[in-house]
Amino acid sequence: MPVPDAPEPLVFELSEPGRTGLRLPAIDVPDAVAPAACLPAAALRREPPALPEVGELDVVRHYTRLSRLNHAIDTGMYPLGSCTMKYNPKINDALAALQGFAGLHPYTPGSLAQGALRLLWDLEQALCALTGMAAFSLQPAAGAHGELAGMLIAAQYHRLRGDTARRRVVVPTAAHGTNPASAAMAGFEVVEIPSDADGVDLDALRAQADGSLAALMLTNPSTVGLFEGRAAETARIVHAAGGLLYYDGANLNAIVGRARPADMGFDICHLNLHKTFSTPHGMGGPGAGPVGVTERLAGHLPGPSVRRFDRPGEPAARFAWEAAGPGSIGRMRALFGNFLVLVRAYAYIRTHGGAGLRDVSGHAVLNANYLMELLRPSLPPAFDRRCMHEFIADGRALRPLGLRALDLCKALLDRGFHAPTMYFPLVVEEALMFEPTETESRQTIEALAAAVADILAEAARDADAVRAAPERTPVGRVDEATAARRPVLRHTSG
Ligand SMILES: *Cc1c(COP(=O)(O)O)cnc(C)c1O
Repeated sequence: MPVPDAPEPLVFELSEPGRTGLRLPAIDVPDAVAPAACLPAAALRREPPALPEVGELDVVRHYTRLSRLNHAIDTGMYPLGSCTMKYNPKINDALAALQGFAGLHPYTPGSLAQGALRLLWDLEQALCALTGMAAFSLQPAAGAHGELAGMLIAAQYHRLRGDTARRRVVVPTAAHGTNPASAAMAGFEVVEIPSDADGVDLDALRAQADGSLAALMLTNPSTVGLFEGRAAETARIVHAAGGLLYYDGANLNAIVGRARPADMGFDICHLNLHKTFSTPHGMGGPGAGPVGVTERLAGHLPGPSVRRFDRPGEPAARFAWEAAGPGSIGRMRALFGNFLVLVRAYAYIRTHGGAGLRDVSGHAVLNANYLMELLRPSLPPAFDRRCMHEFIADGRALRPLGLRALDLCKALLDRGFHAPTMYFPLVVEEALMFEPTETESRQTIEALAAAVADILAEAARDADAVRAAPERTPVGRVDEATAARRPVLRHTSG
């Protein structure tokens, strides 16, 4: 099916035979090995690849024009919920790009990389201070990877104590999909228990709390944006049964500097540095999901880790890699983690300091509650209580106007805003999940609420007009069914 009028041609359509963006000197030495001598005939290309042939300025203008078609944090707000960090201060990118960090070879001897090792050690101390955990491994490359490490640690802990009957991990229904997946990958049997706005169903938990319980995984605040009011009782039940408590730290943004997972009774936690501590994470990475544990589990962390040595008489501390001990679960990945993501997190934490991070969570929660109240008359919250850094508006309230959650989202694009997260989490029908983040001003939050009010007023006059949105974006409303069933994924010439 033909692609509708594109606002910018494909780079292939700009191609002119023979045009190039660079000029290489002619080869003045013989080819050392002809390709045919080292590759089987079946692997050799018979025709040259159909690469676009474009000049330098054509390429620059093409990609610059494309970049201007995108909604970007530098031009407008993103109220998307459930992923937290949308604005990543540019200074952290600048620091991560310093040649001393970006150009450092991972096999540089520790004695020549003292600054980098110190940064890793300092970051580990900061994460311990913020969570109350005794030790962290910075190795895992994402939140889900940290979860897997945490589940392997739980398995190792029970196994080394000879407690081999603990085969089950309990996960509330509202959990992120990676929680049950990680527990299953670590070899556990996953048991789902119901959860509601107040937290996990304690009776259902008690029914699972026996000698087969290995761990419970919990997100707090939960994926519906509410603080688990029953966390302390939940922890008591799990510990009394001999199980471990796992904290999914994806929503730490809402409590950072105010409450610590270890104080709530958690034994293991992961943090998504790309959600709470500044790394752009659109398009899937790279991220970092450090895993932290309390004292009794510290010997099971992945290794190696950085150790600090303070020798009497030496002016400065020294830092060195230390291999993991015999109780460790082993390595979670090659080398030492996504180092430049760790640099950004370090820079973010040091720039804010403890009091600054406390302000981050305070402003995040205040902004979310302010927006929730501004929207309440037209879009009531699905759970009517004070929210944390995000809340779910009940899109079913749009039905009398003839609108779906999707229609409101599309109409917001015409008014200069990115859409909120929609149809997630699945436990709420027509969910619209808003998260303004700590970085947005009162005026911007009010402008978003005014845009929603404007859309609803327009719908009252002419619902069809709203259902036709967006009309001011480079691409209008796509036919979702066709886009899903017959996507055009590849340019075919001619
Ligand atoms: C994002 C998220 C995860 C997974 O983290 P990744 O870094 O994307 O692997 C786990 N749990 C919750 C609640 C999340 O929001």
